Amino acid sequence: MRLVLVGPPGAGKGTQATVLSEKLGVPHISTGDLFRAHISNQTELGREVQEYLDSGELVPDAVTNEMVRERLAQPDAKDGFLLDGFPRNVAQAGVLGEILAREEHKIDNVLEFRIDEDIVVERLLARGRTDDKEDVIRHRQQLYRSETAPLLDYYDSIVVSINAVGDVNEISERALRALRGEK
Ligand code: AMP
Repeated sequence: MRLVLVGPPGAGKGTQATVLSEKLGVPHISTGDLFRAHISNQTELGREVQEYLDSGELVPDAVTNEMVRERLAQPDAKDGFLLDGFPRNVAQAGVLGEILAREEHKIDNVLEFRIDEDIVVERLLARGRTDDKEDVIRHRQQLYRSETAPLLDYYDSIVVSINAVGDVNEISERALRALRGEK
């Protein structure tokens, strides 16, 4: 299964991605995690992207798309994957479509996490990552609305939406049910 997770920052995508990747038997590919690994390993890419992550800006598409292209070419992603944090805008979705089309593949489903913004701000402030300061959080949310939410129209026919408020197990059950086409 080739799955994309979409939802505002703090909706719990990362946590659910870990659970769902295990249950679905596909690798969890998080562009945020990949960038953070580059930063902590002090690679050239890491130095290049650090200020974007710190300020909550999107890393330029060219850099992001190339990193994803390389990751998707790894053998473990051949038969499926769960993308968390990518695509983040419609241009990235176009590139993803092209990468997959070359292998005659496509995205099966987009799983949308629905949650109220005020709940997520509280959660993120509690998480305390370096980009979890209130002004940066607000900026990331604004970018979600302007850049990322349009993906829900772009992928319209394959979007499956779930309520992302609840405990971790409850939400993964909801996600698996929704992906099976059940209510
Ligand atoms: P995340 O872990 O998904 O919250 O991402 C953390 C940060 O990594 C974002 O605020 C961006 O700076 C950067 N980032 C992650 N994924 C992308 C992407 N697909 N395009 C551009 N920047 C990204």
